[in-house]
Amino acid sequence: MEKNIPELYGSLVFNDKVMRCKLPKDMYNALKRTIQNGTHLELDVANSVAVAMKEWAIENGATHYTHWFQPMTNFTAEKHDSFISPTDDGQVIMEFSGKELVKGEPDASSFPSGGLRATFEARGYTAWDPTSPAFIKDRTLYIPTAFCSYSGEALDKKTPLLRSMDTLNKSAVKILRILGNTEVKHVSTTVGPEQEYFLVDKELFNKRKDLIYAGRTLLGAPAPKGQEMEDHYFGTLKPRISAYMHDLDEELWKLGIPAKTKHNEVAPAQHELAPVFDTTNVAVDHNQLTMEIMKKVADKHGLVCLLNEKPFEGINGSGKHNNWSMSTDTGCNLLDPGKTPAENTQFLVFLVAVIQAVDDYADLLRISVASAGNDHRLGANEAPPAIVSIFLGDELTEVLKSIEKDEFFKSHGTVQMDIGATVLPHFVKDNTDRNRTSPFAFTGNKFEFRMLGSSASVANPNIVLNTAVAEVLDQFAAKLENVPAEEMEKAVHQLLKESIIAHKRIIFNGNGYTDEWVEEAQKRGLYNLKSTPEALPHFISEKNEALLVGHKIFTKSELHSRYEIKLENYVKTLHIESCTLAEMVQKDVLPAIVAYTEQLARTAGLKKSVLPDISVSSEAKLLTKLAGLQDAISEGIETLKKDTLTAVGIEDMLEAATYYQSQVIADMDSLRAAVDEAETLLPESLLPYPTYGKLLFSVY
Ligand code: ADP
Ligand code: MG
Repeated sequence: MEKNIPELYGSLVFNDKVMRCKLPKDMYNALKRTIQNGTHLELDVANSVAVAMKEWAIENGATHYTHWFQPMTNFTAEKHDSFISPTDDGQVIMEFSGKELVKGEPDASSFPSGGLRATFEARGYTAWDPTSPAFIKDRTLYIPTAFCSYSGEALDKKTPLLRSMDTLNKSAVKILRILGNTEVKHVSTTVGPEQEYFLVDKELFNKRKDLIYAGRTLLGAPAPKGQEMEDHYFGTLKPRISAYMHDLDEELWKLGIPAKTKHNEVAPAQHELAPVFDTTNVAVDHNQLTMEIMKKVADKHGLVCLLNEKPFEGINGSGKHNNWSMSTDTGCNLLDPGKTPAENTQFLVFLVAVIQAVDDYADLLRISVASAGNDHRLGANEAPPAIVSIFLGDELTEVLKSIEKDEFFKSHGTVQMDIGATVLPHFVKDNTDRNRTSPFAFTGNKFEFRMLGSSASVANPNIVLNTAVAEVLDQFAAKLENVPAEEMEKAVHQLLKESIIAHKRIIFNGNGYTDEWVEEAQKRGLYNLKSTPEALPHFISEKNEALLVGHKIFTKSELHSRYEIKLENYVKTLHIESCTLAEMVQKDVLPAIVAYTEQLARTAGLKKSVLPDISVSSEAKLLTKLAGLQDAISEGIETLKKDTLTAVGIEDMLEAATYYQSQVIADMDSLRAAVDEAETLLPESLLPYPTYGKLLFSVY
């Protein structure tokens, strides 16, 4: 049966078309104003919208509604209420009021709050975010909401994200005015997150405790084949994968998520999905939904979707590329080099602001992607290094150099233009960028932040990015504010020049995977925050607190609560991994080794009893090897358990995190090395869990 995709697309979304058709005109206009300009929503409008939403939801099979929110867990949360309201005659009617639409009151006491709860009531509020459309899933009307405590402190990721978008909007509009732009009223940030993931067979998945509890393998010898043939990237989609991807696209399309590109990734069993970009908060909501639907659809196909950053040792892990830009309500992408000199000035101001922001707040950007899982990728020669730097491409780098030196800019040796003024030639977009080693790359009309982990919400990196850029734009505005129009060109040039000189150290167009770069970055004074415990203390440094609290993204206590939550999360993740590994080795691996050594000993004994002169040296060799490994493994478990107990006893969270990072991870690594070697000696029939070979190569 042919499906009509345009009809299918957004069919489960309370989108503009539905609103226009269901709402009285004045109510529709009032709602539109709220969505576009963030104006306050009156209760009569909310009531009218609630009625329309309920009608539409019921027509589409919904019986319940839920305030859908994003606590600080990387997951979303929901509590369903039905529309039913009993009447006096023992019947029910379906009801939904404006008050129920705008505000919910879930119990907040069981969500991570990083200490905020101690001082505040358990009651939490959810507040409707009308800028992200409601949708229907599982016969329930989902209303995207922000989540705060009784006293208004943010307990979620959406609240600070919306605050950061607002901040950037104000700062960007202000600088545009100073540059003489009188039209733009609103600037939004846009995001297109490319999502990587693995698919493995469900039956195999269910046989591995590490995948079940930790989401990644903690053991496993390398398969005979890995990614060395480079035959998976963009390879032909196998039928099961292709069927999965088709289903996934359709489910996403119904929810108005513009899934656009899909392909196999570098590692075997690894794939990618990229949507068309959207306003940041919608893109964040959509990415959360995408991750959830990816898992759900996988289950239907007898597969499991792994979103962990490092499911397999020795082959690439998964990340997300956060494509980011700023666009005006007049339809202009502020990171698109324009055609006219004025457009170019504007472009350069925003470009240089991003460069300065990334240099000033490189530590915060690193922290915004820090997690136990992502620590295995960053700096592991497969993902960008832990050092934040910017790739600009040769042409733009030359443009900045010429500004710095008050020189003529030579584009491709043919055009010469005076850059002493702010006039720039219309340079060709540098589409040659395939520098995959850069953590933060300019790709023609947007920046691509590539350090994000695959399982995390994309909210945090965008909160930091929006706020840091807003801060720099404010600094620029302060310098240009009182400059008379006739001197503006010169003043802008001077400003850009100063910023470039101060921040060019962050620009690096070379290979980020090399040791030379690590050395060079150190010389330049750039951060190299290798692990989460090393990075996190910077989150609450004076500089970063000044930024985030100063721009009212977080209150001081919100900031500190988030620091606590991040540390706690790291510690808990490592603890689960350590316990899972110990259990697998104790209960599954050691018994398998014992069984095999017993078999070998028995075989050798039998051989000898039948043929006393025969050599049993091959059995003896294997036995010796296995006995040695068994000892090493037993000792390894003891050490791991002992050190994990020590870690549990450390009260200070940062100290505990550091101990897990330096000691427990090392214990896990050495235990794993012995187990993986034993795995290569055990017969298939005695292996306690499916091998890497099976996990990575059995889906057709
Ligand atoms: P590539 O990474 O190969 O350059 P594309 O240019 O197609 O691929 O873009 C990759 C992602 O960037 C897509 O999700 C796309 O929608 C997104 N993107 C494109 N333009 C913008 C923009 N102005 N703001 C944010 N994301 C964008
Ligand atoms: Mg890309």
